[in-house]
Amino acid sequence: MLSSLIQGAGRAAKVAQEAVQLVFGWDEPAAASATPTSGADAVRVARAAPADASALLARLRAMGLRNVDALLLTTNRRTMVSIKGRMLRVHEGYLAAGDDVLTAIVAFVMARRGAGRTAAMHVIIGYARGLTEHSAPARVARTHPADEALAERLEIAHAELNEARFGGELQGIPVRVSRRMKSRLGHYSPARGGEGAEIAISQQHLKKHGWASAMETLLHEMVHQWQAETGRPLDHGAQFRKKAREVGIRPRATRVVD
Ligand SMILES: [Zn+2]
Repeated sequence: MLSSLIQGAGRAAKVAQEAVQLVFGWDEPAAASATPTSGADAVRVARAAPADASALLARLRAMGLRNVDALLLTTNRRTMVSIKGRMLRVHEGYLAAGDDVLTAIVAFVMARRGAGRTAAMHVIIGYARGLTEHSAPARVARTHPADEALAERLEIAHAELNEARFGGELQGIPVRVSRRMKSRLGHYSPARGGEGAEIAISQQHLKKHGWASAMETLLHEMVHQWQAETGRPLDHGAQFRKKAREVGIRPRATRVVD
């Protein structure tokens, strides 16, 4: 990883001065295998796909992107698309994305708020889910195939709540539906080893208590995510309770499952 960082920095020095651009090597086999290798699509992708960060930035600008000085390609599944100040971070898997997805990235950045942004998130997250289905390293626990649509809804809800309640400061992370979780409603797992962070929501909880209740659980786990990402301990202490109230949930450590 360090060597690819250095390589990336070397390459970055050669590109336009206004932009700090790093190009990392693949560390997930994912997006490469998501690129069609035969048929009409392969021809289209081969001819049209931007080759690196600067090419992708140029393409996005041609599609109407403004107010972005730099584009950073990430290899970490946690960051699909994020904007901070004038720096845009995009997972390298999006190099192979079609114009519909790139248009959504432009809309996501330019809209900042509102319905246009929500629609764009659906497209961006939908594409990311397609990538990881084929490529992500095997996790110990996975969403049951029958719960995939639910997991996608939860991931979109995560993105929306992140915007609405956390000012967009959280990373985009996978949300999984767990059929094993019986006593707990949800769980946040910080990144460790080769695995990224994730949130799991109990399928039983969703079935028994419904969507609104699951949203409260999701927010609870997102407060833990906020703790992890800001270097705080994962607990239900005073800071947890304060943040929980800020994002609009009652700061209980647990809720009774009937
Ligand atoms: Zn908790």
